[in-house]
Amino acid sequence: MNKHSTDFNQIVLDLPRQVDTEVAGDIEKESVFVSPWIERIKVNEDRSSVNVELRPGANVEEVAGKARRYLDVMAKQLSGFEIKVFIETKRKDTGPYQLGVNEGLIERGWMHDYGKGQVAYSGPVLKLARLINERSGELYAQAFGAKDGHFPAMVDADTLQKCGYFDSHPNAVTFLGNVVEDIDALEEFRVANSCSEGAILPPHEHIHVDGMCLNPAACFPCYPTLTGKTFADGAAYSWLGRVFRYESRNINGLDRLYEFNVRELVFVGSEDYVRSCRAKALPIVEDARQPDRHRLHGADGDDPFFATVSAAKKFWQAAQEVKNEIKIPALSSDGSVKQLACGSINLHGNFFGKRFGFNDGAGEPAQTGCVGLGIERWVLAAFTQHGFDERRWPESVREKLFG
Ligand SMILES: [Zn+2]
Repeated sequence: MNKHSTDFNQIVLDLPRQVDTEVAGDIEKESVFVSPWIERIKVNEDRSSVNVELRPGANVEEVAGKARRYLDVMAKQLSGFEIKVFIETKRKDTGPYQLGVNEGLIERGWMHDYGKGQVAYSGPVLKLARLINERSGELYAQAFGAKDGHFPAMVDADTLQKCGYFDSHPNAVTFLGNVVEDIDALEEFRVANSCSEGAILPPHEHIHVDGMCLNPAACFPCYPTLTGKTFADGAAYSWLGRVFRYESRNINGLDRLYEFNVRELVFVGSEDYVRSCRAKALPIVEDARQPDRHRLHGADGDDPFFATVSAAKKFWQAAQEVKNEIKIPALSSDGSVKQLACGSINLHGNFFGKRFGFNDGAGEPAQTGCVGLGIERWVLAAFTQHGFDERRWPESVREKLFG
């Protein structure tokens, strides 16, 4: 017997256990991918149950079943998870955090939000984005001899499959579609749009998806270029990558974009080489936040951000490897301080070496690791810390950003 909800409806489900606030946040965020009939899932204050808000017409039992399976996995995968802080820097800017950074940047004409998870920017926002990108590129070149490169924004599905992305993040993939090579289908599409108001998309049967995707992780396009190579001494590469992650309804200004930029650093070589690179990377990431060795933040030579580098495992991530996240405080829409993930440091073992066929000096599949810095989130965090009054920005960067 199926119950259908007739109008706005809610159901309450118990969680298998009480979850911590981090898991509760993930449950709410990822819930947009559970069912098209779910408006949202909200974890209740006791963190032992959730409210599932249904959309009109939902089959309650079916949707509740999906929600239950989802909650079981979320509560299980993340249970007993402990955040380990490696580096913590205290914020020394004594001024208040800036609320409403996205709106403020738009008001000043420094940013345009297209409303679908993409932004355009110019002026101080662009200058800061470039500064972060260039400064980290320079530091990586100095410290690791990282070679510069450029990689495309599109990636083929075979590469993503080889990278294990469909296992770990099936919800975030974007496939590209083309109109079928058929003169009638093309003509129908052309005519439909020739005097329409707004775009008329071709019907599904006239679109073919032939396996091109938008690249969802900066380092992926690098690995096919390494095939057949040997890395006796280890090598490092760095570049600015453009990355796309489908976020469904979770998009929100610079906090959560569909399309964003990442300064990426990849190490390839023996286990020792890759591990030593990662150890070296942690303090360098700290440094990157201080362009030109002048401090980006703080009044006189104090450390800029309060950063928490924490180990985190995510729901859709099948690979069990530990990931270090770089977190910087920002504000939630209600004004409370939250930790915004602005980058990550990952060790992949020999996973990519095996999959793409490149070796270390001993003839074994080489190990890899990567560091990715999400440029737009760093910009958001910096404006949250220093606000719009340029006098609050350290002198050394003030001229560069606002001059
Ligand atoms: Zn990466």
